[in-house]
Amino acid sequence: MTTASLWAPLRTLRARALQLSLLCLASLAPGWAAAQGGAVAVQWLGQSAMKITSPGGKVIVIDPWLTSNPKTPAEFKKLEALGKVDLILLTHAHFDHIADAPALSAMNKAPVYAPAGLADSFATLGVMPVEMAPRFNKGGVVFPLGPEAGIKIIATHAEHSSEFRWKNPETGKDEMRQGGEPMGYIVELENGFRIYHMGDTGIFGDMKLIGELYKPDLILIPIGSHFVMPPADAAYATRELLKPKFAIPMHYGANALLRGTPKEYTDALGQSATKVLVLEPGAIARF
Ligand SMILES: [Zn+2]
Repeated sequence: MTTASLWAPLRTLRARALQLSLLCLASLAPGWAAAQGGAVAVQWLGQSAMKITSPGGKVIVIDPWLTSNPKTPAEFKKLEALGKVDLILLTHAHFDHIADAPALSAMNKAPVYAPAGLADSFATLGVMPVEMAPRFNKGGVVFPLGPEAGIKIIATHAEHSSEFRWKNPETGKDEMRQGGEPMGYIVELENGFRIYHMGDTGIFGDMKLIGELYKPDLILIPIGSHFVMPPADAAYATRELLKPKFAIPMHYGANALLRGTPKEYTDALGQSATKVLVLEPGAIARF
């Protein structure tokens, strides 16, 4: 047995132990975040759907595809199960990222920040009221909950596409509409903790710039391949370009094409200063 093959199971064991400890923390101490006054909770709900709870108790949901997502735990297929939602972010127009956003927005009166072209389509096609779908774009910095709330959102580049497939109610047929440019998001919370939700993306050199400018503490990184980075590219981006403290892999396993696995990602990453947290759908990581 080689040194490398000895290390692999050790790494897997270590990842499992960390995962278990996070799960225990989440399940045994639901009030921990509030009690500590500084904790950030990140819950993975399958594919790219993430529920972020800020230290001040604000809830941000990114890319809500829940009701028909095969990886979403049954209890979260009811949108009410998410509880109060303050803000919804969409990275691009594909169905597996936006499906439940209009309904979740209406239930919570929560604004949906999306690429400008997608927000325009939502408004002009009557998918959402115009005031609930504010327009903004890459490079922009916004404070969707007001400057006093201290939550800052920055839209970044993503190497992908953003076609919006819309069913015309008059003809019953699908039509392709404007979906804007795909994005990633830097979410900076009240305590300065920075999360980079990378959206759907292939690898691109300016990830290094994003790493240097915004120094994300946590990246939410797609690894499934076919539509997004394969695990090896995701590992390179993590190790050489972004260098975060923590990484949570996402956008894998929801269909047969998304073949990349967390094990391939952690194997490709090797020894790294970045802690990889492999979550089961529904699990919460706290920081
Ligand atoms: Zn996509």
